[in-house]
Amino acid sequence: MTLLTLNNQQPNIPHMERKVRVRFAPSPTGPLHIGGVRTALYNYLFARQHGGTMILRIEDTDSTRFVEGAEQYINESLQWLGIEIDEGVRQGGAYGPYRQSQRSELYGQYARQLLDAGRAYIAFDTPEQLEAKRAEVANFQYDASTRMQMCNSLTLAPEEVTRRIEAGDQYVVRFKIEPGRDVVVDDLIRGRVVINSSVLDDKVIYKSADRLATYHLANIVDDHLMEVSHVIRGEEWLPSAPLHVLLYEALGWTETMPVFVHLPLLLKPDGKGKLSKRDGDRLGFPVFPLEWRDPKTGDVSTGYRERGYLPEAVVNFLALLGWNPGDEREIFSMKELIEAFSFDHCSKKGAKFDFEKAKWFNHEYISATGDAELTRLFRPILAQHVDNPEHFSDEYISRVISLVKSRVNFTGELWEQADFFFQAPQTYAEKDIKKRWKADTPQTLTTLCDILQNVEPFTSEHAEEVVIQWIKDNNLHMGNVMNAFRLTVVGQCTGPHMFDITSLLGKDETLARLRRGIESIQPAE
Ligand code: GLU
Repeated sequence: MTLLTLNNQQPNIPHMERKVRVRFAPSPTGPLHIGGVRTALYNYLFARQHGGTMILRIEDTDSTRFVEGAEQYINESLQWLGIEIDEGVRQGGAYGPYRQSQRSELYGQYARQLLDAGRAYIAFDTPEQLEAKRAEVANFQYDASTRMQMCNSLTLAPEEVTRRIEAGDQYVVRFKIEPGRDVVVDDLIRGRVVINSSVLDDKVIYKSADRLATYHLANIVDDHLMEVSHVIRGEEWLPSAPLHVLLYEALGWTETMPVFVHLPLLLKPDGKGKLSKRDGDRLGFPVFPLEWRDPKTGDVSTGYRERGYLPEAVVNFLALLGWNPGDEREIFSMKELIEAFSFDHCSKKGAKFDFEKAKWFNHEYISATGDAELTRLFRPILAQHVDNPEHFSDEYISRVISLVKSRVNFTGELWEQADFFFQAPQTYAEKDIKKRWKADTPQTLTTLCDILQNVEPFTSEHAEEVVIQWIKDNNLHMGNVMNAFRLTVVGQCTGPHMFDITSLLGKDETLARLRRGIESIQPAE
């Protein structure tokens, strides 16, 4: 909404004597977007920092947009990321129910209160009538300038209104906005925002058709009843805030109105516009925390979890999209974020989504994660690739992981880096054969077999010492011999330190691979 104006007045933010109670209030209309995850995270950090309460409220008042499985997806996503909920649909709590579709009677009561106080009215206009009006009047808006031309309880006789309701005509309740007033929204990040009420329309707050409040009424009634102290949400809700302020006022709740905090948008990587799923598809990164299967189309969208991200890395990089610690630090555990987080260091400007940075974070976290934990994550990956995963002990896998983890950005890449520890190479890289497999290679490697046969103990250091000495004593070409050796064991000329590999594989397996290579690799033409 372009008419929102920022001015230089200081916002009036009440002191935090209130107990901090915040809520994440998603609508179950599909998978949680990564921007929504960031909103949940900031709510959580703020709650924990102040010893407050984190609420998860499901805003499912719009039944036409309800999507099967979305609520479960939200719960699972938050759980995966370590964003703990204190009160919510699964946890319960003293202010429940936490699903709006189960609270409809409450909203009806407040819609009635607004009607009785003359702050709202009943409207019968059908979709067709509204459409006709829009066609007739340019930029039609249902407000003080037009409401007296419409079909509602302000224009119809009271008996007619009663008759229609009794006859079962469908109606809505509209909030009556008085024009010409400056409405002030004080926001912790944005400061004081002022809007003139004349630009607002008489929003529908209740629908008889499904006996449910719309988002605006349900949202503020619940924030009030759940004693929410801070409304922390995405910038896209800022245009609704003036209406919410007026609703609080009309219901007599101004004193306990929550503090507003509208978070900066997450922008496309090139900074032009809001980050969308299409950007993710176009540039090859997930915009959802977990994989999502669209229940209607069956389309599957990948998630950060399935891509091989660690939840700690996702939390860390999301926290820094819109907030900064005020110094150069980048790596933060959840605990450190809880300590360091502050809205004072949140920007008003949108935060550009930087996928390369996300990868960098994940790389850092994988490198820093314990081998035992990575072993646990690697087990299912291993099971997808080999027939005998149970043959490999945790200790063996953990030693493999310690050799390769610094080489990957994603857990899924562990297999590509480590496959030869679990199966002998099936093929040998052509370009490496061309470069390293000389006419005398089979003979040299045959001698190497004899040398290795006698290495005892077959440790990395000892084997290295013996082999290097042999190469030197015989004036062999270090690069060619070692790379040809590697080719037979790994299948290509990359990977961790050669003798760390052989010591892990053991003498028998190393020799078997050498012999197989000698027999089967043909020098390039
Ligand atoms: N149900 C709204 C959403 O889907 C909540 C907005 C708010 O937090 O007030 O984001």
